[in-house]
Amino acid sequence: MTRRTFTKATVATSALVGTGTAAKSADVDVVIIGAGAAGSSATDALIKAGYSVICVEAANRIGGRVYTDTSTFGVPFDHGAHWLHNRAINPFVNMGKKLGMKVYKAPANERVFIKGRGSIGADGGAFWDEYKRVTRAITSAAKKRKDISAADAVTSHNEWTNTAFAHVGSLSMARDMDHVSVMDWYSAQDGNDWFCAQGFGTLLSKQWANVPVSLNTKVTKIDASRDAVTVQTSTGTIHAKAAIVTVSQGVLASGAINFSPAMDSSMKSAINGITMGSYNHIALQFSGGTIDVKPDSWIAYHLSERKAGGPKGGGILANVSGTGLCYFEVGGGFGQSLEQQGKAVMVDFALSEMSALFGAGIRKGFIKGTATQWGLNRHVLGSYSGAEPGQAATRRYLRDPIADRIFLAGEATSFGEQATVSGAHKEGLRAAAAVSDLLA
Ligand SMILES: Cc1cc2nc3c(=O)[nH]c(=O)nc-3n(C[C@H](O)[C@H](O)[C@H](O)COP(=O)(O)OP(=O)(O)OC[C@H]3O[C@@H](n4cnc5c(N)ncnc54)[C@H](O)[C@@H]3O)c2cc1C
Repeated sequence: MTRRTFTKATVATSALVGTGTAAKSADVDVVIIGAGAAGSSATDALIKAGYSVICVEAANRIGGRVYTDTSTFGVPFDHGAHWLHNRAINPFVNMGKKLGMKVYKAPANERVFIKGRGSIGADGGAFWDEYKRVTRAITSAAKKRKDISAADAVTSHNEWTNTAFAHVGSLSMARDMDHVSVMDWYSAQDGNDWFCAQGFGTLLSKQWANVPVSLNTKVTKIDASRDAVTVQTSTGTIHAKAAIVTVSQGVLASGAINFSPAMDSSMKSAINGITMGSYNHIALQFSGGTIDVKPDSWIAYHLSERKAGGPKGGGILANVSGTGLCYFEVGGGFGQSLEQQGKAVMVDFALSEMSALFGAGIRKGFIKGTATQWGLNRHVLGSYSGAEPGQAATRRYLRDPIADRIFLAGEATSFGEQATVSGAHKEGLRAAAAVSDLLA
């Protein structure tokens, strides 16, 4: 299963992670805002290069959108990223191996269901044909370099189009097809996916266990109007020669951080054009054998209804790493409206959809469920970035430094690995290299 061919499908603090007091009146070479994949790799690289660095994080843990919770179910539950996309260019697979973690290729255990009829066979026939037809139409539109919406690229529909739209749009790009830019979709690199049995968040937190971070330290203002950077945080002021800002597009668009000088019009167009999508996991735990599928089975099912601007329903990563845990995935407009109705409604919806697929008897084996709500997380405000139709080209402006000293980095500034952990990691390294050049 790959990003193109299908959907993407313990509080991780270390001994060196601080409480926030370290931020008071600090004077350093570089301040890094956010301790997710981008901020952690930038901090690590700059410390290794000999700079004095402070990394400040608004939340009470590191990892940002990569976080494994082992307490809710007693088995790893990735609240954010779970797939290690594109193994050939994703450094986290080898990092995981070096750390002694169980990393493995995502098996090709795909099933297609129709409610009331069960599984319709391993290859899913008509669904796969339609999926391929839809992606071919988007590819062809992108090659003409007209940045239209993915919905407009598909001119004829059949009974499986809505399901294919869910898998290309809401369950992969975290947005409905009329909000997917064909150029942005086409620019994302493709390859084999891998998993980490202990959870992607566990891998990331182990990898950067020795990176010092000042937690519970929220940045409110970054001023580079003179020859230095002054950062105001909830716990004090930091003076630095340069800053790397790794917060999400959602946080940037919200205005929670005040920039001085203000962003220029190009950067503003990129903040408006590259927006956050909606994607969440509804995690359902069943007793062993209740959902009788191979580990890490991806389950698609026929979606006929449309609601709230997008397909009503989701897809399921069942029996995650053989634990019996299932991630019922929802995204786009429908997923966003479900998220806003609360975790209990999300769990009820997922359980009733799964009952319709596997039979009402599965309720007897249901243990418990919960759901993520990334759109309501004030430190993220959405799932990951994507370009609105016509806006893919604005992504490059996110890499232009503000006042030559403030560098944005994160999944959204990546070209080709946008919306991924690997992309965020490499963007952290890119920004660290740019800062090194500035300070050399
Ligand atoms: C549900 C979901 C599923 C996903 N699935 C996958 C997947 O399977 N594979 C994959 O590769 N990617 C996936 N992604 C995307 C991936 O998680 C992100 O692309 C990546 O983690 C982003 O890293 P980042 O460092 O750019 O940003 P973040 O992880 O958001 O880090 C930014 C940090 O900044 C902090 N912050 C925010 N505001 C402030 C402030 N004012 N002051 C200080 N700190 C602040 C935040 O708390 C956060 O820790 C998924 C995301 C979600 C939400």
